[in-house]
Amino acid sequence: ALRPYIVGNWKMNGTRSMLSEARSIDRSAQRLMKVEVALAPPYTLIHPVHREAEQIGVGAQDCHHEVEGAHTGDISATMLADAGAKFVILGHSERRQNHGETDELVNAKCHAAISAGLKLIVCCGEAEETRNAGNAEPFVIAQLRTSLPETLDDAAERLAVAYEPIWAIGTGRTATTDDIAAMHGAIRALLVERFGEEQGGAVRILYGGSVKPENAREILETADVGGALVGGASLTAESFLGIVAAGA
Ligand code: 13P
Repeated sequence: ALRPYIVGNWKMNGTRSMLSEARSIDRSAQRLMKVEVALAPPYTLIHPVHREAEQIGVGAQDCHHEVEGAHTGDISATMLADAGAKFVILGHSERRQNHGETDELVNAKCHAAISAGLKLIVCCGEAEETRNAGNAEPFVIAQLRTSLPETLDDAAERLAVAYEPIWAIGTGRTATTDDIAAMHGAIRALLVERFGEEQGGAVRILYGGSVKPENAREILETADVGGALVGGASLTAESFLGIVAAGA
């Protein structure tokens, strides 16, 4: 099996003063080789973090679905790769909510990222009303059915899926391990259906939503959890490394 994948999503946080945190994370990750560690800083820090990093992967939080053109303010997957990014997070709920991203657009972004040679972390997750109505699984599976690429020869290496229930993001609430296991099992079935037993069976499914050093071990030991996508607790080396250590 692939190593646990622990990814920090800095969201819209971080100026150059935070490069020291990235450096600390990188240096410690060299001692925690059982875990694959990565950071997605804001665009402005991708190249600086890439230059600091010897061990960790550096990626972006979004990309445009076209290679270039008249799209003021947007950044393409090709540009990300040129800046040193190795992966891109796509379809985060904050992009879907704040920028109206649809499953179809996320799918187009997947194709752009694959063409640029980037790895993908494709996000999904339900709102609280959807879970309370008992519709979380069909909702998430429908999101992924359209968002994910149709085929991917090297899916196990190239793709990760992040399940992030919206009501757990930044709230201090996490899904129960039973609910995480059930959702990840449903996602696994879709991945096997689409990419085959071997590739689909090996794609890492990350959990995200209020992952902290205190709850990381329990979550990472849950069935079909292949890592974590971490927001707030990735902003300091101390708390992020606490989560990395839980995966080692
Ligand atoms: P928090 O870890 O701050 O809840 O954020 C999760 C997330 O959205 C990561 O992408």
